[in-house]
Amino acid sequence: MTQNDLLQIAKTYGDPVYVYDAEKIISQFNRLTNAFNDVKKLKLNYACKALSNITILKLMNSLGSGLDTVSIQEVQLGLLAGFKPENIIFTPNGVSLEEIEEASKLGVRINIDNLSVLEQFGSKHPNVPVCIRINPHVMAGGNSNISVGHIDSKFGISIHQIPHLLRIVELTKMNINGIHMHTGSDILDIDVFLYASEILFETAKNFKNLDFIDFGSGFKVPYKEADIETNIEELGKKLSEKFNSFCKEYGKELTLAFEPGKFLVSEAGSFLAKVNVVKQTTSTVFASIDSGFNHLIRPMLYGSYHQIENISNPEGRERYYSVVGYICETDTFASNRRINEISEGDILRFKNAGAYCFTMASNYNSRFRPPEVLWYNGEAILIRERETFDDITKNQVDTKNLFAKKEKAVAK
Ligand SMILES: *Cc1c(COP(=O)(O)O)cnc(C)c1O
Repeated sequence: MTQNDLLQIAKTYGDPVYVYDAEKIISQFNRLTNAFNDVKKLKLNYACKALSNITILKLMNSLGSGLDTVSIQEVQLGLLAGFKPENIIFTPNGVSLEEIEEASKLGVRINIDNLSVLEQFGSKHPNVPVCIRINPHVMAGGNSNISVGHIDSKFGISIHQIPHLLRIVELTKMNINGIHMHTGSDILDIDVFLYASEILFETAKNFKNLDFIDFGSGFKVPYKEADIETNIEELGKKLSEKFNSFCKEYGKELTLAFEPGKFLVSEAGSFLAKVNVVKQTTSTVFASIDSGFNHLIRPMLYGSYHQIENISNPEGRERYYSVVGYICETDTFASNRRINEISEGDILRFKNAGAYCFTMASNYNSRFRPPEVLWYNGEAILIRERETFDDITKNQVDTKNLFAKKEKAVAK
């Protein structure tokens, strides 16, 4: 899709607006699938917390993807989108036993990440197969906010607790059908990932009835030109080889599973916002847009970088801008960024806005969440309407005249 297509969408649906390019999602899905051509059974389970619009879920389903979910509501969304329960895996962290039982009743696969719930679930439902989430204690990527495999992480069952885990399995007679790890976002070093996979294979040998090994996700996507990204093709080649030789040793053709979120949808997304004000101070030129961290929180939440283009003036001279929002709190999207000259009313495009952008949006400052548009087969399709004032008020209870002044009792 071209910049003009994007401008047209902003005109038709208003701004700010999220736009997703279906073609990019499809090509990323195919790229990941092809990287693992050497594996007989591959299953990609799209991690729907990245972008959970039902139309996007339907697109994933049509591609043959499964669904990775982290809440009972995501499970319900997946079912609503048409996923078969057996193609949904529930991979929560820190949820109640009741929520896991609810998901299990719906027929989805269960992944448990702590010994306490494993023991309780196994005692009550020894016949329901369960996947276990292992923490291999490796650091993939550099930012401790987004690395979840290391020693202090709250995720997964530590490999040091395998003996305890095996005792629970033996006592409850439960059936472990899968082993899972998710080392967190942004795998830069393939060798670290392969090292973690070795630990997973070692662990897997303890279980005789496995159907699959799930390597989670954390594939890094490029955020700017010449940015490093996970070399999926190289990872595919090396991991497939290790996986195939493990299956031989194990004596069974297992399924190799992944649960990519960002890899499939990040680059497909654009966020379009209009510049309300250009403000020149003594040191900086601010471009204030009609949005804020209520719509796109990643830069403020964990310092993510989103490339910004002025699609209203793509040929303009480049100047330095700080792009900020309209929230009454610091909400900086970018500091001192070179962007084609900006005038008030221009439309800015934020790239990599497919993953963890709309799904993290809020109503802070009582603003509406933006609409979402899917670009599919050369056509713009509205897949979520902009909120209205009714969305802001609908759950608030009308307390009538709770604070009306009471009439003074008349003294007799
Ligand atoms: C969030 C999450 C993912 C997806 O991670 P990405 O970095 O978006 O690919 C996969 N698995 C689990 C368990 C997750 O919580």
